Amino acid sequence: MKFCAECQTLLEGVVVALRQHETLMHIGISLNLDGHLTDQVREEVAPCLVKSFNVAQVAWDGYCEHLIAHGLLIPVRKAVAVETD
Ligand SMILES: [Zn+2]
Repeated sequence: MKFCAECQTLLEGVVVALRQHETLMHIGISLNLDGHLTDQVREEVAPCLVKSFNVAQVAWDGYCEHLIAHGLLIPVRKAVAVETD
């Protein structure tokens, strides 16, 4: 089993990105619960939320690829949505 400094750097990047996404999600959830999530607010919050999700996804994918390169993970096909009746 192999670990290196980049393992930690990539993992920390994932954690930071997820925390930023979590913060924005909490804001959105709180606004919704308080009844303040108007269409205008939603239009302002949604792009930031999506961007933070994508940043976290890219960080996670990079971390996974790194662990695959170490032989710690086996590459698998990503799950895809299937149409159901
Ligand atoms: Zn590594």
